[in-house]
Amino acid sequence: MLYFLAYEQINDLLNALRTLGYTCMGPQVQDGTIVFDELNHAAQLPWGVHDMQKPGYYRLQQSEKKEAFAWANGPQAIKPLLFKPKESLWRVQKNDDGKLIFKEIMPDHKPVALIGARSCDLAAMAIQDKTLLKDKFIDKQYQWHREHLFVIAVNCSYSGGNCFCVSTQTGPKATSGYDLALTEVDKGFVVDIGSDKGRNLITTLKCIPATETNSRQADTRTAQAASMQTKRMPKNNSRELRNILMNHLDHPRWHEVAERCLSCGNCTAVCPTCFCHHQTETPVAQGDGSVHAREWDSCFTQGHSYIHGQVVRDTTEKRYKQWLTHKLGTWWDQFDTSGCVGCGRCVTWCPVGIDLTEEMAAIAGESNVVTDKKKGPHDD
Ligand code: SF4
Ligand code: SF4
Repeated sequence: MLYFLAYEQINDLLNALRTLGYTCMGPQVQDGTIVFDELNHAAQLPWGVHDMQKPGYYRLQQSEKKEAFAWANGPQAIKPLLFKPKESLWRVQKNDDGKLIFKEIMPDHKPVALIGARSCDLAAMAIQDKTLLKDKFIDKQYQWHREHLFVIAVNCSYSGGNCFCVSTQTGPKATSGYDLALTEVDKGFVVDIGSDKGRNLITTLKCIPATETNSRQADTRTAQAASMQTKRMPKNNSRELRNILMNHLDHPRWHEVAERCLSCGNCTAVCPTCFCHHQTETPVAQGDGSVHAREWDSCFTQGHSYIHGQVVRDTTEKRYKQWLTHKLGTWWDQFDTSGCVGCGRCVTWCPVGIDLTEEMAAIAGESNVVTDKKKGPHDD
């Protein structure tokens, strides 16, 4: 059953989550972009703001229409909340007998309720779960954040200029991984329940059932987001793309893209599935121990391919090739999935506007352009 949450009930939703002990995080405009930060009041949401995205380009515009989610995505996904940019893992200290004692450091902050995760973000979270929670090597800090997260997804009504989740089958409507999923309609949201936690919250808020008109409007909105997409990943992001990449390691396009790439690593920082990291050891002031931390790294740094006295990927061409042959290729061998969820962030936030769908089109010999695109509401 679907429910209706009126705009006036957003603050009740935030209050109910706070009563349950959550810190609410939600989208808001900061420094010309939409980021997730602590959300204390509905007024902080980006009302009437929509985003314009092109390769290497992100701008916000204010419109008259007072919608809270008339934008596609900002530079962050869920990743920074679960797989933190820097996180302490353990402390080692000498005891009085000079013996080294290792102690795990676990997060100790309040659980987080995230409002505004997109369908591609949930798909990315499912991939990170495979990377960090499955098998015998569990990342305990990630596991803690994951178990203490309440997810309120928002189905997209608009796509950004770089979104291509339709071709990766990861959006624009969320299908799993949420406690509640909202779709914005006139005067509020249609609410879909994804878990018992979500159901309990909706019962507390005394939401009324959604009407037929509400539900129809919600479907139209997500269909609108899908129809706005102009890009697609060749071979629909399938295993076939993996085989093409692995059979074209000497394609001249790798060299051409390397001439433009700055090896800055922006693409990996904003990518919701990238998990490369390095470990640091910081001595404590007393000199009798140290703190061990994990910190995001990137396949674009020289140090990340330093093995036994040598940097293995010593050119930008090798690093760019590593990024895409791993993400779109050998992830299939490791995790039985592509590492790309079609969010388009790496395209938007690349300072020189490198577009991975274009690069893959050149190598796969298949277009990355959606030919039957309808005019979208943000088009000129
Ligand atoms: S590779 Fe680019 S488009 Fe794909 S998930 Fe990462 S940031 Fe998004
Ligand atoms: S592809 Fe773009 S964002 Fe990624 S390292 Fe190269 S220049 Fe930086």
